[in-house]
Amino acid sequence: MTTDRSQSNPHISVIVPAFNESSAITSTVENIANQLATLSPHWDIVVIDDGSRDKTADIVRGLPAYLRTTLVRFSRNFGKEYAITAGLEYASGDIVICMDADGQHSPALISEMLEKWRAGYDMVYAVRQNRHIESGFKRWGSKLFYEIMTLGERITIPRDAGDFRLMNRNVVNALRKLPERNRFMKGMYAWVGYKSIGIPYTPLPRSHGVSTFSRLKLIQLAWTGITSFSVIPLRLASAVGGLLALLAFIYGIWVILEKMFFHESIPGWPTVVASLMFFSGVQLLFIGILGEYIARIYDEVKGRPPYIVAEVSASYQGKESQL
Ligand code: UDP
Ligand code: MG
Repeated sequence: MTTDRSQSNPHISVIVPAFNESSAITSTVENIANQLATLSPHWDIVVIDDGSRDKTADIVRGLPAYLRTTLVRFSRNFGKEYAITAGLEYASGDIVICMDADGQHSPALISEMLEKWRAGYDMVYAVRQNRHIESGFKRWGSKLFYEIMTLGERITIPRDAGDFRLMNRNVVNALRKLPERNRFMKGMYAWVGYKSIGIPYTPLPRSHGVSTFSRLKLIQLAWTGITSFSVIPLRLASAVGGLLALLAFIYGIWVILEKMFFHESIPGWPTVVASLMFFSGVQLLFIGILGEYIARIYDEVKGRPPYIVAEVSASYQGKESQL
């Protein structure tokens, strides 16, 4: 890797996670290849087939050699975060760019990213501009999510930045060193640091079909993000627990004093029932939160590989290496 980036011709690898994208994948790869060919003589594309149930893998395997595409096929659907993880593992470029398979990420942005890279940035992420056309659920949900994530944390996760980004080799190598199985890529990009910058973009409409991220999947992803990057829920549990204990203690003293000095025996049946239910509810909630963290620890200590690759096949020979 030359130090003077403005003069160098870096090898650019584009990684494309794909799940049931048979109708979009060919044109996506072609568009990316056309763009890359104008930018550097050294480039390749890695498509990670995330256990598609359609013909995606067959199509990618059969792509012509000039598209310089490697297929990495998972044994089943592991999820986009894992497909990206595998992409970072298999990409050989000095620069790695992650793009969706559905054509929503415009290849035209690559040259702009490359310019920033030449100016010395190690990570260039695309920031979505048109959030207003998304549903209220997505918009408010993501707002709440970023609020929670950044509460008292050292890292800031850029808002509205997704996986569409350019990474220099040092960033890729840093990400590859993170061993966790509960992968929340957006948090991990921010966690590794390095000189980063965002550039605005407007996602294109999906070229075919609908988003595979249902509300439930988005909530799950947000929850993985929060529990693997933040201990706020645990702190909240301690804070609420502490406050309730203090209130209970004060109330206890009051009851004793009342009994001693006023000799009143209080007919407090409703109070007892109400507070009993309230406190057991709070306890169950926080035991649940503890359970979530324990589940993640359990996942990590099992030490399973995060994904399983069933097949790697390159449609072209002699992948250039200039490292
Ligand atoms: N994807 C994947 N595994 C999955 C779901 C999605 O690799 O389990 C890929 C998908 O093929 C696409 C990208 O991740 O390339 C983004 O998915 P999608 O377009 O469904 O989501 P959205 O654009 O709404 O974020
Ligand atoms: Mg999409």
